[in-house]
Amino acid sequence: TELSRIRNFSIVAHIDHGKSTLADRLIQSTNTVSEREMKEQLLDAMDIERERGITIKANTVRIEYIADDGELYVLNLIDTPGHVDFAYEVSRSMRAVEGSLLVVDSTQGVEAQTLANVYQAIEADHEIVPVLNKIDLPAADCERVAEQIEDVIGIDASDALRVSAKSGIGIKETLEAIVTRLPAPGGDAAAPLKAMLVDSWYDAYLGVVVLIRVMDGVIRKGDRIVMMGTGGKYPVERLGVFRPAMQNVDELGPGEIGFFTASIKQVRDTRVGDTITHEKKGADKPLPGFKPSVPVVFCGLFPVDSAEFEDLRSAIEKLALNDASFSYEMETSAALGFGFRCGFLGLLHLEVIRDRLEREYDIELITTAPSVVYHLFMKDGSQTELHNPADMPDPSIVSHVEEPRIKATIMVPDEYLGDVLKLCQDRRGIQLDLTYAGSRAMVVYDLPLNEVVFDFYDRLKSVTKGYASFDYQMEGYREDNLVKMQILVNDEPVDALSMMVHRDRAEMRGRAMCEKLKDLIPRHMFKIPIQAAIGGKVIARETLSAMRKDVTAKCYGGDATRKKKLLEKQKAGKKKMRQFGKVEIPQEAFISALKMD
Ligand code: GDP
Ligand code: MG
Repeated sequence: TELSRIRNFSIVAHIDHGKSTLADRLIQSTNTVSEREMKEQLLDAMDIERERGITIKANTVRIEYIADDGELYVLNLIDTPGHVDFAYEVSRSMRAVEGSLLVVDSTQGVEAQTLANVYQAIEADHEIVPVLNKIDLPAADCERVAEQIEDVIGIDASDALRVSAKSGIGIKETLEAIVTRLPAPGGDAAAPLKAMLVDSWYDAYLGVVVLIRVMDGVIRKGDRIVMMGTGGKYPVERLGVFRPAMQNVDELGPGEIGFFTASIKQVRDTRVGDTITHEKKGADKPLPGFKPSVPVVFCGLFPVDSAEFEDLRSAIEKLALNDASFSYEMETSAALGFGFRCGFLGLLHLEVIRDRLEREYDIELITTAPSVVYHLFMKDGSQTELHNPADMPDPSIVSHVEEPRIKATIMVPDEYLGDVLKLCQDRRGIQLDLTYAGSRAMVVYDLPLNEVVFDFYDRLKSVTKGYASFDYQMEGYREDNLVKMQILVNDEPVDALSMMVHRDRAEMRGRAMCEKLKDLIPRHMFKIPIQAAIGGKVIARETLSAMRKDVTAKCYGGDATRKKKLLEKQKAGKKKMRQFGKVEIPQEAFISALKMD
């Protein structure tokens, strides 16, 4: 296809503002798929995504559209992952296109994710077309939202499109705007091949499928290619485009977006952002800005039933084949037995993987509290990474500790601002900015990631009754006074409950933990001391008193099935208890104890 008749774009939006619905409508109105094939939210493929209404993996579709000027245009839509955990993937897919539709719900206005995503689009030099969606709703206020886009984002919204993706209003205008307002891609067909690896995934029939954007040169079926970052060399087997079903093509030239397969064994052999060129007469230099995404949040995953350890291992291995950003290594814990320490891009990534293990592989899991990666600077001058608080070496050999920080953007209605500021302050936040857009405030905070990973989002939702929106980006590492706090139950340290805390907050956290554990651990036949300690020094203490006599069964008579259910429940409960020394600690204790209120 001629460059002048290609348009590549993505859609950026806050969750629920209508990105998927608009994509569906664009596909449908251009007859890209037949009515019969059209199902709601074509681009949200995985079940979990569907259920949660989020798009995780980038997806793409090639739309052919005859514009008002009578010419046939090829429009490539790349659907970016909408969540911050996948920020790096978002930024790569943004670099694969030249423009964005900025979809804002005209009954809601700009939200935190709108901002985070549109900044990425601006950074990628996109031409941006604002789209005010949901104008069919009586609460739509296009004037106000257009003004807000200008005030908060700083782009011209005077010719924002007015659309109802649901009822199909403004779809034709949107297609025309893509053709007339977005630039055509550049590139040189005669230059050596340079294609960006935008995404890759495992397909049961085809193996690894690689999504690429050709920048320069031409890639053809049968070509021998090399991935410049990983060094992997492959013959191109199948080349094609998504419409959205796969359709084979013989070649892809500059500006085009498509896929290839090449007997690549696993997704781990590919890196998002890598540059693909020809093995012979290839490009000398890769495309700029390649950096593989690294896990920032770690947690332990243990099977509730220790007999399921091997099942867990094979499930984790399978998931990892298809997700290069997920890492794992075996871990043993005195309290929880054999399991894995796993690394994730963020909390959502963690939740998605845990969900899949539980649902698709039917393994009940104990998840230990998420922890961030600390940088340890030792007195002997060496430096290491700490992935598990339990592994923190003796403080006497550590010079200092650095922790990851984030820049958090929170949008919230005025009346909850006070609570949000207090929450951020309580979590060691440093306020960077506070501005207003109508009756909503936008606050920007510098926060330690470790204060956010566990329950910040839940707390934020609860103090704002769900009205706040939140997004963040990593801001690098900073030194602070961080120490390892151990919890001792019956004088024995429980590794799974070890945590890194700020020295000034240690007493408070320690006291809270001990009080909580006292409620969570059932009474035994003997007295149990519960203590929090830093480097051998006890900073908080509670005592769980002994049980006087064995409790008698609560269940009298009743029907047999109920009794049986109760017995089964008891058995499951037993399984979930972890014998610790002589003390049994229930599974919930490990998570509940770490929640702060
Ligand atoms: P996404 O999270 O941005 O992909 O949003 P979706 O496309 O999944 O839409 C979220 C919800 O808003 C769904 O229930 C849609 O049916 C609804 N929705 C999307 N566009 C419109 C619209 O133009 N009008 C109305 N009334 N609802 C819409
Ligand atoms: Mg969606």
